[in-house]
Amino acid sequence: MEKKDSGKEILVGEGLFVRPKSPSEEPHLIGSKCKNCAEVTFPKQPWCANCGGEAEELLLSTIGKLYSFSNVNNAPPEGYKGPIPYGVGSVEVDGVRVMCNITEHDPGKLKIGMEMQLVVDSLFVDDDGNKVIGLMFRPVSN
Ligand SMILES: [Zn+2]
Repeated sequence: MEKKDSGKEILVGEGLFVRPKSPSEEPHLIGSKCKNCAEVTFPKQPWCANCGGEAEELLLSTIGKLYSFSNVNNAPPEGYKGPIPYGVGSVEVDGVRVMCNITEHDPGKLKIGMEMQLVVDSLFVDDDGNKVIGLMFRPVSN
């Protein structure tokens, strides 16, 4: 059965990222930084978990380093509708580890510590034909 296309886009979560308004702009994750101890968090929090200080919004860097990764070849989590296999991992951005999908699922093409760039794009199309927009990281070298 062919999938319908509603032409609509929905976000995996509100307040997680800023989407580019033009091709010259880059997407950013919305984190926060403590005004007292400078602890950075993602997603954004109003208060610092480290010292209890007030935190302010901080747009995180678009480039991070790959901290860990794996690939999923079968038995995806319930509700997952994207392509299989797919890559998952943790990317360190501004000192924060972000769990996310990785565009590359071949472990032979990934290396701990390699530079990764944030991508905000369609993860999958849901049953109603909506594009579900989420965050991923891709290797900078690809
Ligand atoms: Zn703090």
